[in-house]
Formats: sequence, structure tokens, C-alpha cells
Amino acid sequence: MKAQVLHRYDEKLTAEKWVDLETVDDPRIEKSSDVIVRIGGAGVCRTDLHIIEGIWKPHMDPTGDKLLPLIMGHENAGWIEEVGAAVEGMKAGDPVIVHPKISDGTCLACRRGEDMHGEGSFPGLDCNGGYAQYLRTSARNIVKLPESLSPKDVAPYADAGLTAYRAVKKATRHLLPGQRCVVIGAGGLGHIGIQCLKAMCAAEIIVVDKSDRSLALAKEGGADHLVQADGDEVEAVKALSEGAGAEAVIDFVGEKGTTAKGLAMTRPMGNYYLVGYGEDLHIPAVDLIITERNIIGNLVGTWAELTELMALADRGLVEIAVQEYPLAEANQALKDLHAGRIKGRALLIP
Ligand code: ZN
Ligand code: ZN
Repeated sequence: MKAQVLHRYDEKLTAEKWVDLETVDDPRIEKSSDVIVRIGGAGVCRTDLHIIEGIWKPHMDPTGDKLLPLIMGHENAGWIEEVGAAVEGMKAGDPVIVHPKISDGTCLACRRGEDMHGEGSFPGLDCNGGYAQYLRTSARNIVKLPESLSPKDVAPYADAGLTAYRAVKKATRHLLPGQRCVVIGAGGLGHIGIQCLKAMCAAEIIVVDKSDRSLALAKEGGADHLVQADGDEVEAVKALSEGAGAEAVIDFVGEKGTTAKGLAMTRPMGNYYLVGYGEDLHIPAVDLIITERNIIGNLVGTWAELTELMALADRGLVEIAVQEYPLAEANQALKDLHAGRIKGRALLIP
């Protein structure tokens, strides 16, 4: 099959190209629970840029370049191509979206549905992913698509959408009418998160972003207030929230100073949900104690949450803006993402 392969890290992200289009062996059924998916679309994610930079190396590849060559791509949807002998209820041609974490299914975390916290592998990060024509996954990861949805319309939901949904779902469990939720960053994840918020709660939605294009997308998605991130965004949010900040702040950026600003926008007893990453958090412990604010991390989501998100998409309550690229143009898609030129989400089509 054709695949885009990463052979070397590039800490500064300055190389002319990052992945190479190559012909590699097709993935094959190895375990009786395996499923081969013919890729219909693979989302291009900021995490892929972080993999190229080597941010994940200490976690996934601590001893050196053992992980490479790697086929990236953890946001995958397509059609069932082949199933292992033990797989029931799925047949070739079924349209599916793939939960990104392949887990054992038998440890306590998995039995609680929290596969992200169990043992296992993460195709696209620690084994071959979906920047290719075919992907090997496991029956446990498959979510069948409703008739209204096609693989290329949904692929980025597998991680970007699911992560946004999980953080929003946590926030909506506490948010009441009359309260406010700040969304920092209305790009790939943020624009999905805003629609989920709109569909799932009645809090006022304040969106902070530096790009006019992203703010326009936020408006379409249901934002009540738009705040330009021009340096005075903390004051602007406070002015929209009785001077105290919002009950919930969901930070889809997590770098370039948004963590300090996000915490400053969170009112006493409020919750700051961290989704994006890239910098360190700095807050005096006493500040957190006095204000009783909570800092909450978010890691992808569960199989059940991916199914819930597909239900929102099936009803037309959430839509992803995508920019499609042929698989051969993966470098261009990654460059455009790095340069902030993507409206919504970039998608590779094999
Ligand atoms: Zn992703
Ligand atoms: Zn497990």
C-alpha cells in the first residue's frame, strides 16, 4: 500500500518535508480480534507536529529512534476491509470510525470503559497509523457509522472531536443557565467543542482566539461572544462575566501563555479544563487554595463517548469544517497546519 512515513524528528519544524510517500507492506490480520480498515480519511492533528518535534519521544521512544520509521495518523475512519476469525457483527464494506487506543479490554481501566488509562497501543503514535491506505486496529475500537455519515466527514472526530467532546461533557455536568463557559482556541478542536457546548448546555459561550477566521467559525458554531486575543483578553472576558471570570474555561491551546490567561479567566470555585498542551503550568499553590479553582486534564475519550458524539453528528448538531488533501500532499497539510492556514481540520484522503 501507499503510506506517508516519518523517518526523522525535526525539533524546530524547519525541514522542507517531514514525511515520505512510500510503498510499504499492507497490514495483515495477526490476532483473531484484529480488523483491517480501508482508510476513507485520516485527520491531520497538532499532535502529529508534536510527534515530529519529538515532544512525545520521552514517553513513546525513551531510548532513541526505535519508533521510527512511523506511519502517523490517529484520527481514522473508513470501511471494514477484513476481520479476524473471532470478530462478529462486522463485515467488509461497513463504514466505521476508529477509536484511537487499542487496549487489552481486560484490565480494570478498560472494564470501566476508560481504555485510555489501560495498557495498549496507540496507532499513529507508537505503531503504524492511518496516513496510509489501510490500518490495522481491533474489533473493540470500531464504532459503526450511522447511514447519514460518511468516513471522510467524520475522521477527525476520532481524536480531535472526541477530546473536545469529553472536556465539554465534563464542563456541561456543572454549567447552569446564567453561567458562562470560555473556550480558548476555536481551531480544529475548539470549533467542535463550541458546537457540543451549544448542543448540551445553556451556558453563555465566550470564545477567545487571535484569528479572525477562527472567530468567524466560532460564531457559526454558536458562540455568544467573540474576544480577540490581542493581549487584553483576560480583561475582556472579565468584562463579560461580572468582573469575576467564567465558571468554566476550556483551553484548547495550552501553550504560548494561554494557561496563565485561562486560569486568570476562571472565577473562584470555577473549573479550568486543559486540552491543548505545549507549555508548563505555573500557579502559586496558595492561589489555588484560596480560590478553590480546579485544574482538570483531559485525555481523548471513551468508546461510549465516541458513540455519543456520532449521535450528535447524526442529528446534524455538530459538523466539522475540513480541508481535504490527497495522501500524497501530507507534507503540505502539515505545513498548512503549522502555519495556521487550516480552517477547521485538515484531512488526508488516500
Ligand atoms: Zn489528534
Ligand atoms: Zn485495559
